[in-house]
Amino acid sequence: MSRPKSVDVVVVGGGVIGTSTAFHLAEAGVSVLLCERNELASGSTSKAAGGVRANFSDEFNVALGSRSLELFAKFKDRPGYEIDLHRPGYLFALTKKSDEELFEASTKIHHKFGIRSEMLSPEDAKRISPLLNIDDVLACSFTPDDGHCTPEAVVMGYANGAKRHGAVVLTNTEVLEIELKGNEIRSVTTSIGKVETKAIINCAGAWSPKIGELVGLNLPVTPFRRELVVTKSLGHGFADLPREMPMTIDYSSSLYWHREGNGLLMGFSDKSNPAGYETPKDPEFLAKLGEIASHRAPRLLDVGIGRGWVGLYEVTPDHNAILGEYSKISRFFYATGFSGHGFLQGPAIGEILRDLYLGREPFVSINALTAERFERPNSLRPEYNIV
Ligand SMILES: Cc1cc2nc3c(=O)[nH]c(=O)nc-3n(C[C@H](O)[C@H](O)[C@H](O)COP(=O)(O)OP(=O)(O)OC[C@H]3O[C@@H](n4cnc5c(N)ncnc54)[C@H](O)[C@@H]3O)c2cc1C
Repeated sequence: MSRPKSVDVVVVGGGVIGTSTAFHLAEAGVSVLLCERNELASGSTSKAAGGVRANFSDEFNVALGSRSLELFAKFKDRPGYEIDLHRPGYLFALTKKSDEELFEASTKIHHKFGIRSEMLSPEDAKRISPLLNIDDVLACSFTPDDGHCTPEAVVMGYANGAKRHGAVVLTNTEVLEIELKGNEIRSVTTSIGKVETKAIINCAGAWSPKIGELVGLNLPVTPFRRELVVTKSLGHGFADLPREMPMTIDYSSSLYWHREGNGLLMGFSDKSNPAGYETPKDPEFLAKLGEIASHRAPRLLDVGIGRGWVGLYEVTPDHNAILGEYSKISRFFYATGFSGHGFLQGPAIGEILRDLYLGREPFVSINALTAERFERPNSLRPEYNIV
């Protein structure tokens, strides 16, 4: 595909957020160029565990998760791609009274949105997630319609769908500069030349602050390394496990696991990692994971480790997304800082950015999520149900 001379919108970044946005805009008849400096899904999206859920504490995230689940469920028809969606639920194991209270409050919010959600006794939780050690578990939060699917497939589905609707998707194309006249956008300079446009959508994930800087917008997004592993096929010793098990998360330690093919995918968020863009594997990762598992899910110590990888969370001070249109530059939009839950929000965010661009009211208010909230007192919008 060659570089167009002029388009309505340039989308920066070919992860789940950028490709979903390109799809929704192109489907609505907008001319779109998506620029990805590497390959599609090569940023955080292909590193995600694939978890999709509406189990959040903030109403905004509940709405986004719920809407995205609806769109994931119909993905085969629109945009038309197989994403291997499984919906065995999400199960959070809680070992502190304060966490139990937090999730009890979240459950009430879920019900307001019509989401199936319940607090389970440890014994009931163990019946659906038999690897869980419940010795010190007080209660569990269970949302049976959550699940997981394949991140790369979602990106490919959206990118192909966008192209079918006329979008131009260019890989190995880096956005380098943005030309402004007053507070309006004139053009974008990429590594393969200039493209005239009046609108830009910054979907560059962990690298979005650099795109923000091009127009003087401060986006407080910090990259943190996160690592996970996929096990080999589970042997005879695991024949008792049900074919479908919920994504199970030890809320205190963040240890998580879900079925992945004939094995498991498992990981935890190592909060001792310093901020930074480097993604070397931690030689101690398996030992640290093993230490947590030895208490929370000792049978995980008997699985064979297959492969593993490291990616970046793009974290904001309140663990919530930064979403909106820059107040100082007309038609400069941004959607970033998803703080470990951006994959599952991709479908809904694409719809929202389409509506913002078209001047329509999005299905959920995003006014509290703009970048300006970090400059105002008492305007943070914390999400507590994070992994
Ligand atoms: C180990 C791990 C597990 C995770 N598990 C989950 C999970 O289970 N569920 C969940 O919802 N989320 C999960 N996440 C978080 C999720 O992966 C991210 O929030 C999400 O993928 C962000 O998508 P994005 O499109 O914003 O960013 P990215 O996928 O990072 O896409 C941004 C793209 O922008 C490109 N780019 C940057 N600068 C430029 C430029 N100048 N020009 C052109 N292109 C540029 C990059 O190359 C990149 O491809 C996980 C993350 C990690 C690391």
